[in-house]
Amino acid sequence: MVKNKLFEKIKYFIIDMDGTFYLDGNIIDGSLDFLKRVRECGKDYCFFTNNSSNNVEVCKAKLHNMGCDVQDGQIVISSHVTIDFLKENCKGQSVYLLGNERLTNDFINAGIKLDSQNPDIVVLGFDTTLTYDKINRACSFLAKGKRYIATHPDFNCPTSDGFMPDTGSLMAVFKASTGRDPEVMGKPMSTTVKYLEKKLNCTKDELCFIGDRLETDIAIGMNNGVCSVLVLTGVTDIETYEKSEIKASFVAKSLSALSEEL
Ligand SMILES: [Mg+2]
Repeated sequence: MVKNKLFEKIKYFIIDMDGTFYLDGNIIDGSLDFLKRVRECGKDYCFFTNNSSNNVEVCKAKLHNMGCDVQDGQIVISSHVTIDFLKENCKGQSVYLLGNERLTNDFINAGIKLDSQNPDIVVLGFDTTLTYDKINRACSFLAKGKRYIATHPDFNCPTSDGFMPDTGSLMAVFKASTGRDPEVMGKPMSTTVKYLEKKLNCTKDELCFIGDRLETDIAIGMNNGVCSVLVLTGVTDIETYEKSEIKASFVAKSLSALSEEL
């Protein structure tokens, strides 16, 4: 039995990484104890990041350096949702991918056909190797009406000295040039909830998203009727939360404070 009834039915906590579990590469106090507590309660967890410039190895290594060892299957990235969506809904179609080497390798390893000349679909990921030629090429495909998918909608990605422009900002560039909006994957979209239900073999009532960003980590809960917990260790402070229309099922100061509810 857990202390807070809200979490009784939860089987999997889906934990955001930056601002939730660690901050600027340093683990947030009590994060490891939270994982221990989750397991003690007979529940499980995985990490979910929208950052499609990373792959499983990078995320695992980052966690390992903080004293947290996880299995491959416990890291879920918006790119996994996107790849699954393509395999389910766009079988055999070719993709012009805007992504770095890691994302590109994930697509190739998943058997997705890449094509920079005459693709069926343009996929916009967090491309840390973006060039003007890639932008130009993508815009010309979008102007021709090719299907358009983005791995996640975040405008900025937090870094130790502030932020760097993320996929959502590039979406704005493409929108300005071509008038097109993508089908978005990752948090806060329902595609991600469906993917997790399938991957973890559970129903959405058994999931709980934990994160620090209202527009993604909490909106995915609110928009899809899934439990969500806002932690105040990252980008959202309590004043901002109180003014926001995006509401979590529960607000905890930190993962450590959330442990007290289990
Ligand atoms: Mg975060």
